[in-house]
Amino acid sequence: MKIVLQNVLWLLFFVAYQYFCLASESVTIGILFNEGSHQSEIALNSTLHKKNTFDQKAFFKSNVLQISNFDSFEASKTLCGMLEADYGIAAVIGLESPTRAILESICNHFEVPYIMTSWRPPTRKQTDTVFNFFPEAELFAQALAEIVKSLQWGSFVIIYETEEGLIRMQEILKLQDYKRNSKQNNILVKQLGPGNDHRSLLKEIKNATENNIILDCKTEHILPILQQAKDQNLLSLHNNYLLTSLDAHTLDYGELDTTANITTIRLFDYNTDDFKNTIRRWELSPFDYYSKRISLEPNQIKTETVLFYDALLHLTDSINDLMYTEKSITPNPINCFEQTKSKNGYIFAAYMKERKPSLSLSGPLKFDDNGNRIHFNIHVVDILDNQVIADWYASNSSLVLRRSSNDTEFAAVANLQKILVNVSSRIGEPYLKYRESEEGKILYGNDRYEGYSMDLIQEVANIIGFRFEFHLAEDKEYGKWDEKKKKWTGLVGDLLERKAQLAVCDLTITHQRREVVDFSMPFMTLGISILYKKEEKKDINMFAFLDPFSVSVWIYTATLYLIISVVLYFISRMTPGDWENPHPCDENPEELENIWDIKNCLWLTLGSIMTQGCDILPKGISSRMAVSMWWFFSLIMTSSYTANLAAFLTKDRMEPTIDGAEALSKQTKIKYGVVDGGSTMAFFRDSNFSTYQRMWTNMLATRPSVFEKNNNDGVKRVQAPKGQYAFLMESTQIEYEIETKCDLKQVGSSLDTKSYGIAMPMNSPYRSAINKAILKLQESGKLNDLKNKWWKEKRKDPSCENFDVEEKSDSAELALANVGGVFFVLGVGIAIAVMLAIFEFLWNVRSVSVEEHLTYWEALKVELKFACNVWITKKRTKPVISESSSSSSHKSDKTDDKSMIHSFLQSAGSFMNLNN
Ligand code: ASP
Repeated sequence: MKIVLQNVLWLLFFVAYQYFCLASESVTIGILFNEGSHQSEIALNSTLHKKNTFDQKAFFKSNVLQISNFDSFEASKTLCGMLEADYGIAAVIGLESPTRAILESICNHFEVPYIMTSWRPPTRKQTDTVFNFFPEAELFAQALAEIVKSLQWGSFVIIYETEEGLIRMQEILKLQDYKRNSKQNNILVKQLGPGNDHRSLLKEIKNATENNIILDCKTEHILPILQQAKDQNLLSLHNNYLLTSLDAHTLDYGELDTTANITTIRLFDYNTDDFKNTIRRWELSPFDYYSKRISLEPNQIKTETVLFYDALLHLTDSINDLMYTEKSITPNPINCFEQTKSKNGYIFAAYMKERKPSLSLSGPLKFDDNGNRIHFNIHVVDILDNQVIADWYASNSSLVLRRSSNDTEFAAVANLQKILVNVSSRIGEPYLKYRESEEGKILYGNDRYEGYSMDLIQEVANIIGFRFEFHLAEDKEYGKWDEKKKKWTGLVGDLLERKAQLAVCDLTITHQRREVVDFSMPFMTLGISILYKKEEKKDINMFAFLDPFSVSVWIYTATLYLIISVVLYFISRMTPGDWENPHPCDENPEELENIWDIKNCLWLTLGSIMTQGCDILPKGISSRMAVSMWWFFSLIMTSSYTANLAAFLTKDRMEPTIDGAEALSKQTKIKYGVVDGGSTMAFFRDSNFSTYQRMWTNMLATRPSVFEKNNNDGVKRVQAPKGQYAFLMESTQIEYEIETKCDLKQVGSSLDTKSYGIAMPMNSPYRSAINKAILKLQESGKLNDLKNKWWKEKRKDPSCENFDVEEKSDSAELALANVGGVFFVLGVGIAIAVMLAIFEFLWNVRSVSVEEHLTYWEALKVELKFACNVWITKKRTKPVISESSSSSSHKSDKTDDKSMIHSFLQSAGSFMNLNN
C-alpha cells in the first residue's frame, strides 16, 4: 500500500514537472569548464535541477564545453561554436583559464553577458557585459596589504610564482613606505624558479634570517614548498606564513607536523549552516552522476566552485526576474564572423549588475560599472587552529580582528608547549656555569649547567608549561653585528638563524639588538661601572729611612767612611801642621804631640757626615784638604738623603687614584678596557659625551689591547699584580665579583642605566606570556631570591662583608710605622752604649783591684758606691780604701761633703742663672 502511494506521488510530481517545464521558456547558459571543474559541475547540475523544478518562468539548459587551457585560437573556436547554436546563449560562465582574455573580449564584442570567477588584472577597459565574481584586483591587493599590516610583521619576504602574483602584491610592497626609517621594515621579493626544487631560494631566505613569508603560488605547489621550507628549518615555531591562495584551506597540513604560524585567506566561511546545507544539496542531486562517486566535504570546496555557484544562482535568478517583467529575453544565435550582436545582452547585463542577490555563499555581492566585484569579505584563518582570526570588509575597507590578544597568546603558548624549546646561552658566572659532576658521572642536557639563567628559565617554564634545553652559542659572544661576516653573532645570531626560540644570559637590551630580535620585560636592572683594585695594604717597613739609598750606596758610604778615617790618620801623621807643642808656654819643647789617633779620625769623619761637626779639627794643610773633601762628600750625600727620604715617605700619596670615569679618562697610567663585542663596548663606541668619546679613543689606541674576551678575563687582569688596569663592566657583575674578591672594589657610580631581558625571535607570539611570567616572578620576590641565591648563598669563597682593608690615610703626617726604624736604631745604639759603659766600668774595677791590691769584689763595692753617689762630681785618681785610713777617709768624706755642697750650689746657681 505504502509503495503504491509512493509511486502515485512520484507520478504526480513528474506530471507537474513536465507541465511547468514545458510551459516555461527554455534558456540556455553556456558553461566553459576547465580540467578541474568537477565540483562546479556538481553545483551546476544541482542548481539547474532545483531551478527547473521550482521556478516557473524559465527552463534552464546548459551548454557545457571544456575549454583549452593553452590554445587561445582553439578556445575562441569553442566559444564561437557555442554562440552559433540555434537556441542562442543567454550568458556564458567561464571558469579560470589562461585563455580568459580572448573569451572575455569575444563576449564583450558581441555583447553577450560573460561571467568570470577568477582573478583578473585591474582594468580600466569599458566592459559592459562582462562580470567577474572574483574580487576586483586592486581591492583584493588592498585587502592583502591590510591583512599583512595587521599581522605586524616588521619585515618579510614575498615569494611569488607568476607576474600576476606580483600585481596582487603591489599594495603590500607599498608597506615599505610605512615606517620607512626603521631597519625592521625590509621587504624581500623573490620569484619561484622553474621546476619543483626551491631549496636554494629558501636557503637564501634562511640566510637573510627572515621569519615571515608571504607565499603567492598555485594551491597545488603550497605543500611541496612548505615541505622544502621545513627541510631548511624554516617551518618552526617562530616562522610565520601568509598563503594568498584562496584555496589553501583545501590542503592537509597535518603531514607537515609543524608549529609554524600559517595564515590563509578565504572568501567564504564553510562552517556556516547555509554553506553546509548547500553542499549537502549538491551531493543529493539526482541528475548528477558524479555525486554518486564524490562526497563533498565543506572544507574541500574550492573558491572557484563557490563563485561559480553564486554566479549561476545570480544569473538564473536574474533571467527569471526579467522573464516576469520583460516577458522574453530569448537569446539569438551569434556568428563570430558576422556583426550580429546579442539582442538582449545589454539589458540583461545591466539588470544583473543592479540586482541584489538572494543568496550568495561568497558574501556580499556588488559590481561596479565595469563588472568588477567591489563588495566581498575576506576571512583570515589560522590554519593550525582552523579559526577565523580576522575579517576584511570591502564595503568599508576595514579589517576586524576576531581573535582577542588573549586568544593569540593562548594559541602561541599551546604551540610552545608542543615543542622542546631551545634556549641559547653562554658560560659566564653566575648566570651559567658548568655543573661539577659527582663521582665522575657524565652529565647530559640541562644537567650540564647551572646558574641564574637556568633557574630563571626553569621558573618561567614552570609558569607557562614548556620543556626546554640549554645550548651554548658557538662563538661564545653576546651578540653583535659582524661587519666582516655580514651577520649577527652570539645569542642574537642563534635566534636569527632559528637555532633557538629563547636566548638568556646577562644579555643587555640595546636598541641595535631590539631591531632584529624581541626582548621580554627586564629581569634585572644595572649600569656600567668601574672595577678596580683596592689600595694594597703595604708591609710596614720600620727601616724605611734606609730606602733613600740603595744597599750598595750604604755599603760604599760605610766603606768610604772607614777608608777616609784611615787616610786622614796617615795624612795627619805626615803633615807637620798636626804635630803640636803639648805645652804652649814652652817655646822649645822637646817633643811634639799629634792628637790625630785613629779614634779621633773616626770621630771627626763621623761627626762630619752626621752634620754635627767635631770639637777638634785638623790644622795641617793636607789634612784640612782631605777633611774638606770629606765634608763636601758629606754635604752632597746628606742633602741627597734628606731629599730622597722626603720623597720616599710621601711616595704613596703620589700614586694616581681614580674616583670615576672622568678621573679615569684624564690619566694615562691606569689602563682601562671593556669586554669585546658587548653592549658596554657599544656604549662607549656610540656615545656622544666627550668623556666617553675620549675614553673610547684611548681604549682603541692602547697597546696591548684593553678589550677582554669575557668578564672573567677582565677581572683577572684587574687583579694581576703587574700593571694597573680598570675594567668597565656592568654593576651586577661587579657586585658579584666584589662579593668574594676582597682585593677589588667598585669605583664611582653607574655611567648609565640599562637592563637584561630574555631575547626571542622578532614578533614572537609567546612574548607576552613570557612577560607575564617574569612579572609574576618579580611580584612574588622570586627574582630577588634567585639573585641572592647566586650572588651570595651559592658562593664557595667567604664573603668580603666583614673584610676590612685599612684604607689609606689621606692626612699628611707620617705615622709611627714610617719612622719606627729611627726609634729602633736609637734604642739599639743607646743599649750598646750602656753595655759599653758597664764593660768600661768593670774593666776599670779590675784595674783598680790590681793597682790597689784589693779583691775584685772590694774594688767593685767601692767603685759602685762612688758611682751611685750621684752628687759627687770629683773623683780621686786613687780611691781611699784601708781601715787605718778611715780618719783620712773620714776627712776625705768631709772633703767630699764640702765638694758636694759646692757642686750643689754651683748647679743651683747655673740653673737659676746666677754667677758665683
Ligand atoms: N651584558 C653585556 C652585553 O649584553 C656585556 C657587556 O658588555 O658587559 O653585551
